[in-house]
Amino acid sequence: MSRELHFNLWYALIAIAAVLAIQDYLAARAGVETIPYSQFESALKAGEIADVTVSDTRIEGTYKKPGANGQSRRFTTVRVSPDLAKNLSDAKVTFSGEPAPGLFERMLGWLLPVALFLGLWMYLSQRMLQGRGGVMAIGKSKAKLFMEKSIATTFDDVAGVDEAKEELREIIAFLKDPKGYGRLGAHVPKGVLLVGPPGTGKTLLARAVAGEAGVPFLSISGSEFVELFVGVGAARVRDLFEQARGQAPCIIFIDELDALGRARGISPVSGGQDEKEQTLNQLLTELDGFDVSSGVVLLAATNRPEILDPALLRAGRFDRQILVDRPDKPGRIAILKVHLRKVQLDPQVAIEEIAALTTGFTGADLANLVNEAALLATRRGAPAVRQQDLNDAIERIVAGLEKKTRVLGASERRAVACHEIGHALVAMSVPGSDPVQKVSIIPRGIAALGYTIQRPTEDRFLMSRTELANKMTVLLGGRAAESLVLEDISTGAADDLAKATAIARSMVLRYGMVAELGQVSYEGDTAPMLGPGIESWQPRRYSESTAALGDQAVRALVDAAFTRARGILAARRVALERAAAELLRKETLTGAELAALLGSVPAETTPAPAPPPVEHTP
Ligand code: ADP
Ligand code: MG
Ligand code: ZN
Repeated sequence: MSRELHFNLWYALIAIAAVLAIQDYLAARAGVETIPYSQFESALKAGEIADVTVSDTRIEGTYKKPGANGQSRRFTTVRVSPDLAKNLSDAKVTFSGEPAPGLFERMLGWLLPVALFLGLWMYLSQRMLQGRGGVMAIGKSKAKLFMEKSIATTFDDVAGVDEAKEELREIIAFLKDPKGYGRLGAHVPKGVLLVGPPGTGKTLLARAVAGEAGVPFLSISGSEFVELFVGVGAARVRDLFEQARGQAPCIIFIDELDALGRARGISPVSGGQDEKEQTLNQLLTELDGFDVSSGVVLLAATNRPEILDPALLRAGRFDRQILVDRPDKPGRIAILKVHLRKVQLDPQVAIEEIAALTTGFTGADLANLVNEAALLATRRGAPAVRQQDLNDAIERIVAGLEKKTRVLGASERRAVACHEIGHALVAMSVPGSDPVQKVSIIPRGIAALGYTIQRPTEDRFLMSRTELANKMTVLLGGRAAESLVLEDISTGAADDLAKATAIARSMVLRYGMVAELGQVSYEGDTAPMLGPGIESWQPRRYSESTAALGDQAVRALVDAAFTRARGILAARRVALERAAAELLRKETLTGAELAALLGSVPAETTPAPAPPPVEHTP
């Protein structure tokens, strides 16, 4: 801005000067002579003056005697109050009017306020620009793009996430030798997305990859892209990739990708939307345009993968996702060791005991715990951190965490362990069910206290009625185990019930799978049409009596699944309780560990009573 403005300023000055000069010239040509007031008075007394024009401040007039070249001679003087003039001439004082200001003075009078005003304006706008990062600096993201040439963080600083580290080693190998890596035609994924709850070490892990590979680390946070001006974010993305290409091999890290990559779609509130969309589109373009062999690897982190725009996750973009989950007990021991290295520790401290008490803590929570304990010990004036300091710190942090995430008490943990083993055992018993990968009682989020991961062995497009019934049985396995072992049921099954009911409803109303209602599609596809989170509302298109029948049929399906799950578990009750105790102790069990514990679980001895087939009436 400043250059253009300077030009304008000079033009203005020149114009003003020119106007004043012309006025002066014209006045001089008209032969107006500026004279002192006393001269005017004596000329008046001598009768030399022909006529005058009197204004508020000046007197202008013409002499009777014309000038040398025959022109009339004009004069001008200040107007002095008549009394003053009389008194002055009585006292024989020579007096005169203020000489009319010269060209320079007149210009100064004009220019000074203008210059002051302009100066103030420039100063203010300059300050505003600096505060905002610079309107003129739009598109140059250097202000917010952090580039670090060498990073001291290594994999030794990150613990408890061994699986994630293992997957990232490939990328490190590539970054160390981008040319040699591609020698055999292998290629690394373009974009790797680190997914996991906040505080589990995603940012730390990304930095450690750069540290291990010894390459520059360009990082930017998705939330910083939320800008005022349309186009700024897009320009920033372009700039980011441009800089990266110049630094290759290097890592680009986009933290909090969800802030930037939120799913596009019809949004009820527009505004700011276009900007985000532009930024996201630019990111997609850059992702498509860049070549991995150039040696630039893109890492991103998010704790809300479910809201990301699906386009971001397509093949050739962020096509590899790495789960960075809350650590299990051995993981917590390892993380505690990393952070306890930095403090003076009493050798008596039993780290395992601390780990046992901190189920559900993330890496960040554990780092915080160690820091709190060190503070407590310092306050105590002790030479080292004792077990008691750590225990006290746990109490403090748990009190703080309880609002945010759940930290389970002993009886809750037992209920969750029982529930999860129930799912797993049923899943291993029903024929054709997906194998169980992992069972855990480490709280995952707000909704799930524990979890059982069943990984589908193949992509499914069609599901038979038997498979749907099996799925419902597995979903109800959790509650069935609770009712069997604890002889009580808990709210922990709410999500399972919702899922099982949804399946049953679809079987009845969409897939025409129960005899009572026949093969009629009562409900269409209820997939959300207005974008994620907004359920499309559909009017009911069937009669009250059908609705009542349908509800009954849904209930019958769910009840049957529950009875079946309970039957399976009752038959293997000893195995169930043994496995639950083991899960309680270890917090996480893999599929293999589980299989070993349960022995090879035979398929159901009494097959489920098959639902009556749907009548095919011609
Ligand atoms: P995220 O990015 O997943 O929210 P961070 O990487 O910012 O989490 O972690 C915050 C801090 O917590 C780190 O600086 C580190 O001190 C500690 N931390 C988190 N996870 C781990 C871990 N797995 N090992 C060691 N320290 C960790
Ligand atoms: Mg982070
Ligand atoms: Zn469950």
